Amino acid sequence: MSKVLIIGAGGVGSVVTHKCAQHPEVFSEICLASRNEAKCRDIAAKLNRPIQTAQVDADDVDALVRLIESFKPDLLIHVALPYQDLTIMEACLKTGVPYLDTANYEHPDEARFEYKEQWAFQDRYEKAGLMATLGCGFDPGMTNIYCAWGQKNLFDEIHQIDILDANGGDHGYPFATNFNPEINIREVTANGRYWENGEWKETPPLSEKREFDFDEIGPKDIYLLYHEELESLVQNIRGLKRIRFWMTFSQQYLTHLKVLENVGMTGIEPVMYEGKEVIPLQFLKSVLPDPASLGPRTKGKTNIGVILDGIKDGKRRKVHIYNICDHEACYREVQSQAVSYTTGVPAVTGAMLMLQGIWKGAGVFNVEQMDPDPFMERIGDMGLPWQMKELDPDTDPLG
Ligand code: NDP
Repeated sequence: MSKVLIIGAGGVGSVVTHKCAQHPEVFSEICLASRNEAKCRDIAAKLNRPIQTAQVDADDVDALVRLIESFKPDLLIHVALPYQDLTIMEACLKTGVPYLDTANYEHPDEARFEYKEQWAFQDRYEKAGLMATLGCGFDPGMTNIYCAWGQKNLFDEIHQIDILDANGGDHGYPFATNFNPEINIREVTANGRYWENGEWKETPPLSEKREFDFDEIGPKDIYLLYHEELESLVQNIRGLKRIRFWMTFSQQYLTHLKVLENVGMTGIEPVMYEGKEVIPLQFLKSVLPDPASLGPRTKGKTNIGVILDGIKDGKRRKVHIYNICDHEACYREVQSQAVSYTTGVPAVTGAMLMLQGIWKGAGVFNVEQMDPDPFMERIGDMGLPWQMKELDPDTDPLG
């Protein structure tokens, strides 16, 4: 029986709150706090058990400390924005509350995604005997755990990893993003990057394209992107020689993105408009559909997983481990589309394992450093069942 404080009342925050509410045996009291308390109250009104709500500016460590001291949670789940990772980690440290998030720290005014600043909390969390779990969404999160589970149960060494993220959903808008538009567009317009033989290699944005035939979605173009789980997996998977991340985009999405980029709407440098500084990407976010509003309109499925290629008992082995998630089924269950669902469910599963003392430690951990078995055993019942297919080790499945 534990008290959980959830920060962030967006698409993912809504799923996390619904899922925690479904498990009163673990989450006996829930408080949902965000910049705008009305959004928390809207989510609370959809639940069949009472929860507390609060207003907090998560950029403000003192405000967070005051909230934590008044609610006294046993765990904090951070699903606001990656800009708040450091302030929330600091507040958890000051109050001795374990921390879990789903995205690595991003600098609001630089296109830089790194674990460096969060890993820098390691000594202080370790000395305080406190646990921080980083990146416990789907990717990062589930994908890291698939790799850790493969390393523990299927392979002696994993040599190559390809992470494949397909969204076969259709929301009917000409252009919208499935999660926070600012974060999404920053990620997609950055240079591609992958790791091979000990070195990072850069590619121009969306310049590397392949095709993959996704179970229950069909063949899709996939594009190489840099994604944050690569940074920690490179350190935590033994024998690794190459790791890449691929995501599907429709031609329509790419055409809109190209035009928006060409006219400067994806920029993060301020521009003057009628005597006021405006950041084009933030303005763009304000006119795009709210990702939370896509839920009732989105049809189709996601298929996200990893292809692991390595050695077992001296023989090559290649497997695809993945989850298929149906947007409409997610909406029926928690009134959110699958992108928020696939992020929120692993966060709640990780939170359960921490609160039950099954995942434990003092310090800052990426999820693949924890035992993957109890997570893989529970995640199906939590809503994200996984499948595994053996692949021919001598065939390249990426067309
Ligand atoms: P949304 O933009 O829908 O929600 C973010 C929420 O955080 C909003 O309620 C917002 O408030 C709130 N917020 C923003 N700034 C502050 C602040 N300073 N203080 C308090 N609350 C604040 O985003 P998503 O729900 O789509 O994403 C949430 C997180 O999940 C992000 O970090 C994202 O990167 C991560 N994510 C991870 C994925 C994974 O697989 N690992 C996949 C998808 C997302 P307001 O409503 O006022 O704007």
